[in-house]
Amino acid sequence: MDDFRREGLIITLDGPAGSGKSSTAKAVAKRLAFRHLDSGALYRALTLGLLRSGVVESDWEALSEQEFANLDIDLQATETGFQVLIGGEVVDSELRTAMVTDRVSFVSSLAACRQSILGLQRKAGKDGRLVADGRDMGTVIFPEAALKIYLIADLEERAIRRLREVGEDSPDGFRLAQQARALDTRDQSDSQRAISPLKMAEDAIELDTTRLAFEEQVQAVVDLAHRLTLF
Ligand code: C5P
Repeated sequence: MDDFRREGLIITLDGPAGSGKSSTAKAVAKRLAFRHLDSGALYRALTLGLLRSGVVESDWEALSEQEFANLDIDLQATETGFQVLIGGEVVDSELRTAMVTDRVSFVSSLAACRQSILGLQRKAGKDGRLVADGRDMGTVIFPEAALKIYLIADLEERAIRRLREVGEDSPDGFRLAQQARALDTRDQSDSQRAISPLKMAEDAIELDTTRLAFEEQVQAVVDLAHRLTLF
């Protein structure tokens, strides 16, 4: 385990879909004995909550912050991070289904949706020792974070990694193009929305992981954390 000043420290990892934010954040948190917050899982839980609620999709846009809060999304701290709950029930694999993935960018573009989980995310960081990943961790949720990383990787490489995650190790050209298009569509929507768009914080450090092995990108973030705190 790495030994350095940890109190109050927050590290943010933002970036486009499939850039390896969550897996990197999780591994970095483990190395530093911090907690990991996957903020994307909260937006996915809100989307799943809406699908389960029976509210027709065309009405989602008009929902109030209170109506989003009524979906009862919560975080439960664990040793290493947070579990996401809907109505007190742990949700996990259901958050990654196509039904959710295809709708989450639209849901997360709604101001009432974002507002409904703002306090929850800040509370997760109140004692520091957190590695938070998402799209607006460094710009909006934790603007005071000690270290902000913006992870990028070429679109094709991100598509290859995403398919590998779901067990497709040798995708053909069609599958690869299809996955790249899906990631790109989500990125366009996330970076063009009016509220909390995906963008690099002014004081963030860009890290291009296209040619890095997973362990190398984890080490790069850990090294930056050390450089920052060993003064
Ligand atoms: O990180 P992940 O791909 O699971 O995020 C799913 C979606 O949640 C993103 O495409 C984005 O629309 C939304 N999101 C967001 N702000 C965050 C994290 C995720 O808008 N901080």
